[in-house]
Amino acid sequence: LGEPRCRDPEGVLRDADAAMAEAKASGEVVVYDRSTHEGAQPRSTERRLREALEQGQFRLHYQPVVSLRSEQLVGVESLLRWEDPERGLVAPGDFIPALEETGLIVPVGSWVLEEACRQASEWHRTLPERAPVKVNVNISARQLTRAPFLDTLTGALRSSMVDPTSLCLEITEGALLDDVGAAWSALRRAKELGVDLALDDFGTGYSSLSHLREFSLDVVKLDKAFVDGVGVGREDTVIVEHLVGMASGLGMLTVAEGVETPEQAALLADMGCQLAQGFLYSAAKEPEVVGELLAAHAPAATEEAVGSYPTWAVRPPSTARTAPVT
Ligand code: C2E
Ligand code: MG
Ligand code: MG
Repeated sequence: LGEPRCRDPEGVLRDADAAMAEAKASGEVVVYDRSTHEGAQPRSTERRLREALEQGQFRLHYQPVVSLRSEQLVGVESLLRWEDPERGLVAPGDFIPALEETGLIVPVGSWVLEEACRQASEWHRTLPERAPVKVNVNISARQLTRAPFLDTLTGALRSSMVDPTSLCLEITEGALLDDVGAAWSALRRAKELGVDLALDDFGTGYSSLSHLREFSLDVVKLDKAFVDGVGVGREDTVIVEHLVGMASGLGMLTVAEGVETPEQAALLADMGCQLAQGFLYSAAKEPEVVGELLAAHAPAATEEAVGSYPTWAVRPPSTARTAPVT
C-alpha cells in the first residue's frame, strides 16, 4: 500500500476499499497512492459511471426462467450490462460495487426498474398470444433504504402500464439484514401493490430460515453453489432437497440458479423444484433475442395462471395438465 497514511485499521480498510472499487471499475490494476486516498481516482470512476448513465450506456439483458416440468419460458431476469465505449460490454460484477460505493446504484437502479417495466410492456403488447412474461429485477439494499423507492416503483409500473403481478423484485439476504426496518417497510408496500418478492442467492448469506416466513417471500432462488452440488455428493443433494421441501412447505416457489446439465435439471424437478435458470437453457441475452425465445417458448395466453405463472408450471404434477412440448 506504499507509504502508510492511515495507521488505524478502519483507515487501512477504507484505502483498500477505495483501491478495489477503482480497480473493478477501471478493469486495471490500481496501485494505492495519495490520489486514491484523496478521492481523485474514485471521483473519476464516479464520473465515468455517471456519464454512462447520462449517455445511455447501460443495457439490460434478460435470462429466461423456465418451468422444469415443461421447459417452457415463464419468466426472465433482467441483468445489467455496461456498454463501455473503451472496453465493450462489461459484466455487473465489475461495476456494481463501484455503483454501490458511489451511491449511483440508486439512479441506475431506478433506470433498471423503469427499463425492465418498459420492456415487459413491449413484450406483453407485441406477444398477445403468449401469457404475460414475469420480469425479475435485482434490487440493491441501498435502493430500498435510501431513496423514494416506492415512488420509483409505482412510477415505473404506471408509465409502462405493466400489471404489478408481472414484476418480481429480487433481494439478497444481505439487503434484508442491512437495515431490516427500512428495507422491510419498502418491501411490504411493494407487496401490497401486487409485486412478487424473491430471495436471491438463497443459502449464501447469513441465511436465517426465519427470513422466509418473516418477509412473506414468494420465491426463493437457490444459489448456484448449491445447484452445483446436486447429484455430486449425497450430503449436497440432501441439503438441496430439504431447502426445496421447506420453501414449498412455506408456499414458496423455488428457482434453481445456474443449472448447467440435464442431470441437475432432472434431479431438481424430482425434488419438487418448479423453476430454473441456467446455461442449460440460455444465458442472458439481448431483448430482441429474448423476444424471439418468448414467441417460441412462452406458454399460450389461454393457460390458466397463478399470478403470472401458468398453473401447470407451479402446481404439483397431480393437478397439472400434460406438459406442452417445447
Ligand atoms: P444474480 O442476480 O444471482 O444473477 C445470476 C448470475 O448468474 C448472472 O450473472 C447470470 O448471468 C449468471 N448465471 C446464470 N446462469 C448461469 C449458469 O448456468 N452458469 C453460470 N456460471 N452463471 C450463470 P451476471 O449477469 O454477471 O450478474 C451477476 C450479479 O450482478 C447478479 O447475480 C446480481 O446480483 C447483480 N446484478 C445484475 N443486474 C443487476 C441490477 O440491475 N441491479 C443490481 N442491484 N444488481 C444486479
Ligand atoms: Mg438475481
Ligand atoms: Mg442469484
